[in-house]
Amino acid sequence: MPELPDLTIVAEELARRVAGRRIVRATAPTPILVRATPDELDRLAGVTLGSAARRGKFMLLPLDRNGSTERTLAANPMLAGRFWITDRTERVRARTGLRLELDDGRDLRYVDREMLGKLYLVAPGSLDEVPGWADMGPDADDPDLSLEVFRTRIRRHPGELKPLLRNPRFVAGIGNAYSDEILWEARLSPRRRRSTLTDDEVERLYVAMRTVLADAIDRLRALVPPDIQTQHREFLRVHLRGGEPCPRCGRELRQIGGREATTFCRSCQPPL
Ligand SMILES: [Zn+2]
Repeated sequence: MPELPDLTIVAEELARRVAGRRIVRATAPTPILVRATPDELDRLAGVTLGSAARRGKFMLLPLDRNGSTERTLAANPMLAGRFWITDRTERVRARTGLRLELDDGRDLRYVDREMLGKLYLVAPGSLDEVPGWADMGPDADDPDLSLEVFRTRIRRHPGELKPLLRNPRFVAGIGNAYSDEILWEARLSPRRRRSTLTDDEVERLYVAMRTVLADAIDRLRALVPPDIQTQHREFLRVHLRGGEPCPRCGRELRQIGGREATTFCRSCQPPL
């Protein structure tokens, strides 16, 4: 699942490589992935792509006409949605939700192997109509999310730390992979309940969240371009590395759960 660091880099790349391009034709080869009528897609001919931005786990692509934003494409890629910049002549793959043919002979496409993501075409000021948007908390890397703000927000959530970090109403942008990385970095068990944390531990969690995400963004900036459709996870320290030695203490990492697995070190991240 693309998370904050992945989508940050994709947004940067989209802004660098397709902003300013005009859409010649917009179609939805797999229409179920797009919340827009064929008429609405037809009307995108002639609009110019603005600078993409990420918010939480959403990708936002402004679609401008005559200097003002006419529509915003909001993408929630969920498990497997990917943007792809390609030549127009490239075969259109199965499960391509959206194909934007650009005025320079390239396409910007959205492909979703799992078909769980969704694209929304919204009018200016109407992002609240997008499911999950209105009640989203601050981005986990928001400069305004200070330790003090973090302390205040976390008090409302008494539950276990792993689902807490993944709860976009608390902080937005963290999923299954980076929550494991952050908890390992903070030396806190995923099963710990927030209500058992000391002030020091809350600070450790905050610092780990910021460091892990910033470090991942730096690494991905070097790894990802130009293939923005490829997700890189090879540098993660613990996530999905169950059975391998803990990079900190050398004991075997433990992994529980199936597809939504949690990986942690029982020694570095002791249950209370
Ligand atoms: Zn360890």
